[in-house]
Parts: sequence; structure tokens; C-alpha cells
Amino acid sequence: MKRQPVQGLHHITAVASNPNKNIAFYQDVLGQRLVKRTVNFDDPKTYHLYYGDKVGSPGTIMTFFPWAHMRRGVRGVGETGATGYLIPPDAIPFWQERLRNLNIEASAPTTRFGETVISFADPDGMPLELITDSDNSHIDYWDNGDITTEHAVRGFQGVTLWVRNAEPTAHVLTELLGFSFVGKEKNRSRYRGASTATGLYIDLLELPKVNQGRFGAGSVHHIAFRTIDDDEQAEYLDRLRLAGLNVTPVQDRQYFHSIYFREPNGVLFEIATDAPGFLYDEPVDDLGKTLKLPSWLEPHRTEIERLVPELDMDKPV
Ligand code: ZN
Repeated sequence: MKRQPVQGLHHITAVASNPNKNIAFYQDVLGQRLVKRTVNFDDPKTYHLYYGDKVGSPGTIMTFFPWAHMRRGVRGVGETGATGYLIPPDAIPFWQERLRNLNIEASAPTTRFGETVISFADPDGMPLELITDSDNSHIDYWDNGDITTEHAVRGFQGVTLWVRNAEPTAHVLTELLGFSFVGKEKNRSRYRGASTATGLYIDLLELPKVNQGRFGAGSVHHIAFRTIDDDEQAEYLDRLRLAGLNVTPVQDRQYFHSIYFREPNGVLFEIATDAPGFLYDEPVDDLGKTLKLPSWLEPHRTEIERLVPELDMDKPV
């Protein structure tokens, strides 16, 4: 038995509509690096875009399936209500000014668990938050030119899940995944993963009278927790199944291996392995520059490249 408590979030996967608007926002506004450009393995005419720090460290990775004709989702219980990115404590004025200059509407700063939060949305209406944290967790800073390291987003702070009843989800987090209870503010309870890495917090926002969310563009599809490798993941698979959860077999996602299950409020959880990681099929300097395909789709590359939309970043300047 080598299983340790879950170290925090590995990645978050969401749905976008237009891939070019998605890249422009996450790369050019938030300063995240496009670390991998591949396709949805179950729907290879759709991109799968991954953003993160310079190397795509676990806890920094936001991924999207851009489906052009997907109607916008409606927030509700049973899903991720907001995704929080960490910023250094002094970076609030920088981000307020940056968002204002880019005509992105943001809330006035509020305080939550002693940290400052500003809220805004991505081009598909997906709720995002910038949350200060003096811990200054380590990431591999990517210098894209106009955001210095003192202001840069430092991976995920965590997510807020909208739930009818927090208790059964809290039970999964604390009893099965090894999260610890941090505290409660009104209807928000906070849980922390067991490390000093980034992406540590899961907040449960209890909203007993809110309807179930409707999935669509701007919705988070699932959140993924970290495990080190296949052996540790296998121990989690057994543990979750023993607890009566309906867990999928292991899926090969090329850059990590995944199992999925729905927690009691309906949020889709994944447990992903840190290994093999995003340097598996291209070196650091080349991450995200060209379309990468798994071996089983490589024979269809010509057709896939014809079907996926052209990206603005590939057009000659
Ligand atoms: Zn995933």
C-alpha cells in the first residue's frame, strides 16, 4: 500500500465554442501557455486544447473542447460553479487594470477566507476568479512577454462546486480522497488537498434551492485530482469502488491515465496520474506548437487536419 492523500487538482476540463477566442483569452489575457494541441480522442474533428504553466505542471492545467455549435450552458447545482486561479497578494491592481483595458467586466474585490477575490468570465461565460494567496506556490513561470512573474497567474487556487447538500460530497473528499476540512463561511465550506502544490482547494457552495445546471459552452465538464502513477491510481480505483461509487476503467489520455466517477451531487470527478506528462511527445520549447495525435489516430492525420478549424496562430502574419 503506497497510497497517499490526494495532492490537489491535476486539471480542469471545460467546453468552449470558438477555439480562436479561447486561445486569445487563456493565452493572451491570462498569460497561460498553450502546452498541448491535440484532438478529442472520442471525437477527433474537435480540438483538445491544454493550457498551463511553462511545462503543464499538475495543478495549472485547464483544458477545453471547443465545440463551435454548442449552446451556452446554464449554471446550476451538480457542477463546478467557478474556477479560481491563484495570484500573488500584490497583483490585484495589476489584474483589475488589465481586465479593464481589455474590456473584460470584473467584480469589485471581495474577501473570502481572508484572501481577495475578483470574479469575471471567459468568452463563453465560464465563471473565473483570481484569488490571492501569500503561499506563492511553485510553478514553472512562462514568460509570454507582457505579464511579469510578480503578477503572473500561479496555477489554480481551486474550484467552487455548486451542490444541493454538501455533506455527501464532503464525505467523498475527506474520507476517500484525503482532503481536510479548512473552515466554513456562510454556505461555503472549504477542503484542502494534502500538499503545498498549486490547485489545493475545493469549496462546496451549498445552494439547496438552485436548479440543476444545464451543460453547454462555458460549463466545466469535470475536475481531475492528482495521483502520482498507475499503482497509486489503482489503489484509489479499488477504494472508490469498495465505497460503492461507479468508477470507470482506466482510460489512456496519452499525457496521463484517468478514471472517472460522479460524486453524490453529480459533479464528474476524475483521478489522473502525474505521469507521463506533457513532455511525453514533444520537448519544452515546442509544446503546443503543432497538432499532436496519439499513435492510434496518427494514421488519420491528413483527414483530421482537414476537419479541425484553422487556428489564427497558424496563419501567416
Ligand atoms: Zn480530464
